[in-house]
Amino acid sequence: MTERLVSILIPILNEESNLPELGRRLPEVLERLGVEWRVLFVDDGSEDGTLDAIRKLNAQDHRFSAISFSRNFGKEIAVAAGLRHVTGDACIIMDADLQHPPEVLASFIERWREGYDVVYGQRIDRQADGPLYRFLAKVYYRVFNFLVDSNIPKNAGDFRLLSRRAINAMNTLQERSRFNKGLYSWIGFKSIAVPFTVADRHHGRTKWSLRRLLSYGIDGVTSFSTIPLRVWSLLGLAISVMAMVYSAFFLASTLIFGAEIPGFPTLIISVMFFSGAQLISLGIMGEYLGRVYDEVKARPLYIIADEVGLAAIDKTPIDLAPTMPKAMTSKELPLNETQPSEPATTE
Ligand code: UDP
Ligand code: MG
Repeated sequence: MTERLVSILIPILNEESNLPELGRRLPEVLERLGVEWRVLFVDDGSEDGTLDAIRKLNAQDHRFSAISFSRNFGKEIAVAAGLRHVTGDACIIMDADLQHPPEVLASFIERWREGYDVVYGQRIDRQADGPLYRFLAKVYYRVFNFLVDSNIPKNAGDFRLLSRRAINAMNTLQERSRFNKGLYSWIGFKSIAVPFTVADRHHGRTKWSLRRLLSYGIDGVTSFSTIPLRVWSLLGLAISVMAMVYSAFFLASTLIFGAEIPGFPTLIISVMFFSGAQLISLGIMGEYLGRVYDEVKARPLYIIADEVGLAAIDKTPIDLAPTMPKAMTSKELPLNETQPSEPATTE
């Protein structure tokens, strides 16, 4: 039987200091897996020596390769780009900071050989994260799973193996605001968890600011649920019914007890409450509208500025989603084109 080929996909941003250790530990593990392997880094616009360090790795071993973005596009996009470029029968996505221990890969492969299409790493404890992060994550999973039909498994992230079928499925998803955690469960397939303990970051610190996490969280909800849009109709209905009941009560009491001057504070409070509610509903609509706007602009997901060692590895052209606008490489960008290539003719 010919050996199966597994690609390791590593989104990477400013991890120069982690690369030597990764370049040492990863191949050690990979050699023991009994599969052919490749490593594809997706350099997400690093500003330190990350790309040079990858070039060095590639010079030592041509199985290390990379595509490099023209700027930082975010980890979700980096993973999407990687999935479009990886070759082989399966792909394992992992972080560059060694928080995902390479030693777990053996169990991933084992499960995959048993026939699972998706094998995801599930954190046993989140001690590596701060208490605030842990709290927010917990609340978020609750809210998300309440709002969204498909359950995303707890404490599972990008650290996972996808079979070729699952990669192909991921590659058919065309949306721009990408929430990978949700997409992984959306595609379905036979999945299984492999528990693992998150290691400490080898060097450096996390790239996720609270602001980024928040916007990521909103992305997740808006791309998988329209309930936040719908609650407002229910709330509106409830408020209208309440107003009708109140006016009936008010009319009756005026008829029976005569008119009295209504309370001014009640008026102010209700005006403030309802204008607040209206602004919130508008804001939520805005969240969705902004995302619709992003989608219709249909910009490419990412721009590739550079690549390392891609030509050297056996590149089977994978055109999995022909309808998807292809990402442009900087060479293809029509920078010097002042004239449209096909001038419009008037007849
Ligand atoms: N990363 C990336 N682009 C980004 C942020 C992070 O490619 O905009 C990479 C990063 O280099 C690392 C992985 O994604 O390999 C996870 O990032 P990080 O360790 O900062 O996240 P955490 O482990 O704290 O969730
Ligand atoms: Mg990390």
